[in-house]
Amino acid sequence: MTQAQQIQATPGPAEQATPQGDTARLSLIGLSREELGKALQAAGVPDKQVRMRVGQIWNAIYHRGLQSFDDVTTLSKDLRTDFEKHFDLTRPEIVTEQISTDGTRKWLIRLASTNPRAPSPEVEAVYIPEEDRGTLCISSQVGCTLNCTFCHTGTQKLVRNLTAGELVAQILIARDALGEWPTPQEGRKITNIVLMGMGEPLYNFDNVKQAMNIASDGEGLSISKRRITLSTSGVIPEIARVGDEMGVMLAISLHAVNDATRDELVPINKKYPLKDLLNACRNFPGVSNARRITFEYVMLKGVNDSLKDAKDLVRLLKGIPAKINLIPFNAWPGAPYECSDWTQIEKFAEIVNKAGYASPVRTPRGRDIMAACGQLKSASEKIRASQVAS
Ligand code: SAH
Ligand code: SF4
Repeated sequence: MTQAQQIQATPGPAEQATPQGDTARLSLIGLSREELGKALQAAGVPDKQVRMRVGQIWNAIYHRGLQSFDDVTTLSKDLRTDFEKHFDLTRPEIVTEQISTDGTRKWLIRLASTNPRAPSPEVEAVYIPEEDRGTLCISSQVGCTLNCTFCHTGTQKLVRNLTAGELVAQILIARDALGEWPTPQEGRKITNIVLMGMGEPLYNFDNVKQAMNIASDGEGLSISKRRITLSTSGVIPEIARVGDEMGVMLAISLHAVNDATRDELVPINKKYPLKDLLNACRNFPGVSNARRITFEYVMLKGVNDSLKDAKDLVRLLKGIPAKINLIPFNAWPGAPYECSDWTQIEKFAEIVNKAGYASPVRTPRGRDIMAACGQLKSASEKIRASQVAS
């Protein structure tokens, strides 16, 4: 078996200029078309040309993946020089790229610091290749405020929302690494995006919405909203907006079938209890058998994995067009839980299967590089994590 690889990224131009870190030049990554137009006007582009220039630059960034105006050959030489002076197309710095023995890749990405006295925040993005798809799992926050007891990210102190540019940059970085430019029509490596990395995406609604609009734009990255899934721990007031305003698929981190257990595992349940959460799912705009809600259920030994739990789970979801994902618990250093025994997971899955839910157990991927669900955690702990991996 080959060892998981850890690649130290070579410092590149991104070192001097990250999307939000370059004070001299404005990063165009993550701007809406309208914002991009305004930025061009401010740089002196005549009103009449703005629409055309926006189209050219959009194509350069999101269809061709260019990182410098020098390469934007659809523009005249003078304009290229001028835009390069004003605007920045580089990505945030990649601190490390790790490749698992199973092909899963994880990038640790350093973001611009918003507080000069604090260390630069870092987030992780993970690419999971499968036979019929390739899923990119991206982060929405540095850390998470919600402290789910089984989740590594929840133990991280430093928390801030990612900007739309930082959200989109994770996709650009993955496309760069996989050599997936210009955006292919067919045979893509990245076919799906899941907001299942670090953070609670519904606590960063506006930026996530803007970034997913950019990701799904047909003249750029072109990833259909049917192939983008947002996972939430259950921030009820924002759930309907996911369907109404974002139009992406919804996943709910359920993990328990009664309030007592869910209060312990997913503490936001105390504020937004199960009954209300399931009602929000029943009323989710656009939900149908063709657009099912995914319910994630982490298997924790002796906590939520009894056969009664399985039966209650099926009963609870009755009437909601649903998919169920059983996730074997991924341990992390100091975790207070164990993963359920495999035989127990199989018995649990059988009950769920019999109720009509197909192949529900999610195989852990990238465990050797701490890239599996709930193992993501950046900053100082990283060094320990990579030692565990090697
Ligand atoms: N904050 C959002 C999205 C990120 S977590 C949410 O909670 O839904 C993505 C998924 O990984 C969630 O279902 C989460 O509950 C699950 N998860 C977290 N820690 C895990 C762990 N250690 N093992 C397996 N799954 C985990
Ligand atoms: Fe935050 Fe999701 Fe982890 Fe809970 S499971 S701590 S909501 S990232």
